[in-house]
Amino acid sequence: MKKFNANLIVRDFIKNLKPYEIKEIPYKIKLDANESPFPVKLSDITTDVDIDLNRYPDPEAIQLKKALSKKLKISYKDIIVGNGSDELIYYLILTFGGPVIYPVPTFAMYGIIAQSVGVERLEVSLDNDFDIDFEKMTSSIISKRPHIIFLSSPNNPTGNTFSSDKILGIIELARQKSSLVVIDEAYHPFCSKNGFLPFLKDFDNLVILRTLSKIGFAGLRVGYLIGNQTVLQEINKVRLPYNLDALSQYVAEQALTKFYSKINSFIKEIIKERQRLYKELLKINGIKVFISEANFILFKIKESKKIYNELSKRGILIRDLSSILPDSLRVTVGTKQENDEFLKELKNILEVLK
Ligand code: PMP
Repeated sequence: MKKFNANLIVRDFIKNLKPYEIKEIPYKIKLDANESPFPVKLSDITTDVDIDLNRYPDPEAIQLKKALSKKLKISYKDIIVGNGSDELIYYLILTFGGPVIYPVPTFAMYGIIAQSVGVERLEVSLDNDFDIDFEKMTSSIISKRPHIIFLSSPNNPTGNTFSSDKILGIIELARQKSSLVVIDEAYHPFCSKNGFLPFLKDFDNLVILRTLSKIGFAGLRVGYLIGNQTVLQEINKVRLPYNLDALSQYVAEQALTKFYSKINSFIKEIIKERQRLYKELLKINGIKVFISEANFILFKIKESKKIYNELSKRGILIRDLSSILPDSLRVTVGTKQENDEFLKELKNILEVLK
């Protein structure tokens, strides 16, 4: 019998696509995916989940949007929720197409999704301080007329925010060129600077992306997009009818209403630990540490691959970035104990490599 060969029918742009890398290695301490280190059990949020599982969920996720709108002090009508902000990035690219432009290094999914739907992607290098290279970025916008510009601020994996003036300059230029600017604020809760929500009223070509994944609810897959009605209307045409399941809608809504002070105390703790971890890393010889406004820290170190492998062997998972940034590793801020264990093992490894 003839064997089926999927390769014969797969679309050309999928053939060369590398899937988003999620390593399944046994671990003791997980500091590789920018999750919250504080366990949250379903029973911490609610003990009486009252959902009719035989029914489809609310297609508009009204209760969840209302809970979000209360926190954000905006109308719930200006929100679309998604199965993680990943899904919303997918919808944005599916709706508006390309080219899409984004500075690199940044979150891999902008490029992966663009490629998977056959949309042109243009990558513009960040400057030496990991800030937007304004000249390069604006000239690309003028010459390529992108449909979407993605700016992750704070940026993953560098951890810094981009200069507000540069972001505003880009939004202004993009408006003249009819480009949509998406500011991905996945890490905003850990950031000392104001986000761009207040600018939504000034710029109708602006969209903000946020997520519950980094603040304790990665398992729920709840992301949200805030923007102008004309933009939301178009996205809603491609959005799958019940894109967020009933359980996630309910638990997220309950978490935002009943568990909010706890969420905030976890965020404060992570920021405190980030500052401590940063200072401790600075003390280690041969490491270049980058300031972070997120829940992770980027650092440069010789023989990074070896160090990454040694940490993995000891059950400590961090992120190896060597394929996009030479000699670079990214560590998610964990609990105090986890960070101490990471620092101890890192120092041990460096001692042996001397
Ligand atoms: N944006 C950025 C910048 C991210 O780092 C991530 C997660 N790694 C996401 C979006 C996606 O988050 P989620 O789909 O879990 O909401």
